[in-house]
Amino acid sequence: MHSRLRPELPLFYNDVYRVDLPDGHRFPMEKYRLVREGLQGELLGRVNGIPAVSFAVSPTASLDDLCTTHDKGYVERYFEGRFTNRENRTVGFPWSEASVKRSLSSVGGTVAAMHAVCADGELRDRRPGARRTPPSLFSGHIAGGTHHAFSDRGEGFCVFSDIAVAANVALRDYPETIRQILIVDCDVHQGNGNAVLFKSKPEVSTFSIHCKANYFSEKEDSDVDIEVEEGAGDEEYLSLLSERLPSLVDHVRPDLIFYQGGVDPLEHDRLGRLSLTREGLRLRNRLVYDTALARGIPTVLTMGGGYPKDLDPASEDFGHIVRSHRDVYEDAAACINTSAF
Ligand SMILES: [Zn+2]
Repeated sequence: MHSRLRPELPLFYNDVYRVDLPDGHRFPMEKYRLVREGLQGELLGRVNGIPAVSFAVSPTASLDDLCTTHDKGYVERYFEGRFTNRENRTVGFPWSEASVKRSLSSVGGTVAAMHAVCADGELRDRRPGARRTPPSLFSGHIAGGTHHAFSDRGEGFCVFSDIAVAANVALRDYPETIRQILIVDCDVHQGNGNAVLFKSKPEVSTFSIHCKANYFSEKEDSDVDIEVEEGAGDEEYLSLLSERLPSLVDHVRPDLIFYQGGVDPLEHDRLGRLSLTREGLRLRNRLVYDTALARGIPTVLTMGGGYPKDLDPASEDFGHIVRSHRDVYEDAAACINTSAF
């Protein structure tokens, strides 16, 4: 769809928006900063044709963009701190001004990453100050992937669905070029929020490969759900994914893909219940990227679950999770820089 493309990976990050969590809280907030710093150390330091990557702070999402997907009353109640105690417990974060900013940047970074691959820079990018350069094929948000949020409720550390908002904004802002979107959700938990949000919207197809024994809450119907048996390893997982994904992409023929690259299928993950190795997850990333690249489909990468058994950021367990999150972006940088477009 694009005549000229930059072999560059624009990455957005939101770890500047910190939320102080109570002692003993099980969410590994520090991983976002560690992933971003690791990527900057690894990718920015390389020259002479090796990964060209740019980093920018995730902007906060606008109310207009949020309301493409979420109920306005729900959004306003969250902004104003009027969630009930039960709603805050179900989301899993205590409410604060800082948490509002972080949630908005979790959506805004994915929306910005979407614009980076969709805007042609000449005519359609309506954001003030937008760069007038040809788009990249891949872009990423070192956050997001909050796939357990619905129109008017959230759960599992998800208030808003960044991918759903970015998909709806893409359909709104690029009606001539983005008509069909595919969400490829490889988090170990089903993308139940996005499944429901797009149930009646044929322009957005949802694909979720997840552990059969590990639904976050109620199972919903994605357009395609693949259930992986508890305890499965690389071979079983990758054969299921490679059997279904390329043929699904050829069937849907998306103009844009969102990849939720959750790393909780990793054997080290506390909540995952699968046994993929780091190498297995890297092969998964490559399968998604090669499928998109071979067909020239712009693809937006986001994070997704990854829960270390040991919450000390200096621990080996924490390091495994951070390492696999970094792979999602490093594999993409390597992929677009070795391709010949
Ligand atoms: Zn998950």
